[in-house]
Amino acid sequence: MPNFHRTPDTFEKLTQMGDVTLYEPAGDAPISEKRSPKNASFLSGCISHVQTPTGAKPIMKTMMTTACERNCNYCVFRAGSTSTKRVTVTPDEMAGAFNQLEESGMVDGLFLSSGIIKGGATSQDKIIDTAEIVRKKYDYRGYIHLKIMPGADYDQLYRAMQIADRISINLEGPTEERLAALAPKKELSAELLEQLKRAHQIKRDNPYIRASIVTQFVVGAVGDTDLELLSLTDNLYNRLGLARTYYMGFNPVMGTPFENLTPTEEIRERRLYQASFLLRDYAWDVEDLPFLSHGNLRTDVDPKIAWADIHLRHHPIEIMTADREQLMRVPGIGPKGAEAILRARREATLTEIGQLAKLNIRAPQRLAPYVTLAGHKPPEQLSLF
Ligand code: SF4
Repeated sequence: MPNFHRTPDTFEKLTQMGDVTLYEPAGDAPISEKRSPKNASFLSGCISHVQTPTGAKPIMKTMMTTACERNCNYCVFRAGSTSTKRVTVTPDEMAGAFNQLEESGMVDGLFLSSGIIKGGATSQDKIIDTAEIVRKKYDYRGYIHLKIMPGADYDQLYRAMQIADRISINLEGPTEERLAALAPKKELSAELLEQLKRAHQIKRDNPYIRASIVTQFVVGAVGDTDLELLSLTDNLYNRLGLARTYYMGFNPVMGTPFENLTPTEEIRERRLYQASFLLRDYAWDVEDLPFLSHGNLRTDVDPKIAWADIHLRHHPIEIMTADREQLMRVPGIGPKGAEAILRARREATLTEIGQLAKLNIRAPQRLAPYVTLAGHKPPEQLSLF
C-alpha cells in the first residue's frame, strides 16, 4: 500500500462509499465491470477494472456525494432512504485523492457520478470542478468519464465535453411511462433526451471535442421490453451519434420501493448488448431483430443465430457472391471477417470451411448451416450436446 501523504479522511470517505457506482459502467466491457471485488477492502470498492479506449485499466469510479434529493425507486441513495450512510467529498478532496492514487500507480482513469443536491446544475459544478483540477492542477491526460446530471445546463454540458473522454446522460427508461415508474422526478423528452440532443449538437459543431456520448437503461424493473429499449437505442445511434448504450439489469435494493421486485437475469443484458451491436456495427434495422410476441428477444440464443435460424437455414448465403452486408448476416462473420472474405475470394475460390478458418473467422464450423461455398453446402458438425 503506498504511503499516502495527504487527505487520509478523503480515502476513508471513499472507502465508506464502497462500490457506489457498481451499476454505472464506465468503459467498453460493462458486464465484467459490474462484478464487485471479492474481498472489498481499503479503497477497493472505488477501483474498477475498465476497458478504456487505450486498453484495460484500473480506474477510480465513485460519486461526489451519496446524498440525493430525487427519488428514483430503484436507488439506495434516493431522498429519505435510511439504508445508506450519506458521504460527500469536495472537488479539492476528490481531485487530490485521485492524484495520489494515480501517482502511486493504483489507478489510471476517473469516472465521476453524483447524487443530486440543490439541483442538477449545482451537482454538475462539483463534478466539473473536480475534473478541471485533475486536468489543470495535476496535469492528468488520461481517461475521464463524467456523468451529466439531469438539470445541468448547456454551458456545463459543453465544458464537460471539453474536459472528458466520455460523458453519460442516462435515460434509465425507454419511454415516458417506464421512466415515470422508475424515476418519478425525471423527464424523458423534456429533460434527458433534450440533453442528449444538445450533446450531439455540441459534438457536431465542434470537431475538436473528442468526448463520446453514452447512455444507460435500467432493464427489467417496470415491464420495459427489449423492443422498446432497442427501438430507442436504434434512434440514439442513428440520430444522436451515441457511441454506445449500457443496459443494467435491475437488481432490487433493500430499503427502496422496489426491494421486493424480481432481479433481471444477466443473460437478458447480454442479449440486449448483442442486439445493440447488430444495430450499431452490422447495419441491422430494429425490424430485423427476431423479437418474440411479448416484445423480448430469446434469451437462449444469440439474436444473430435466432435470426439466421429463421432466414438462412433454408436460404443460405453464398460466400463467393454475397456482398459485405449479406456476409455480416451470417453468425460468426463480423465486419473484419467480411472484409477478409471479400479479399480472399478475389484470389481463390472458397470451397471449404477450413479456408475460412485461415481468414481469422473464429469457430467457422458455426457458419456451416447458413452458407454455401461455391454452390455447395459444407458438411455440418454433429452437435454432441
Ligand atoms: S438521481 Fe436517482 S439514481 Fe441518481 S442518485 Fe438520485 S435517486 Fe439515485
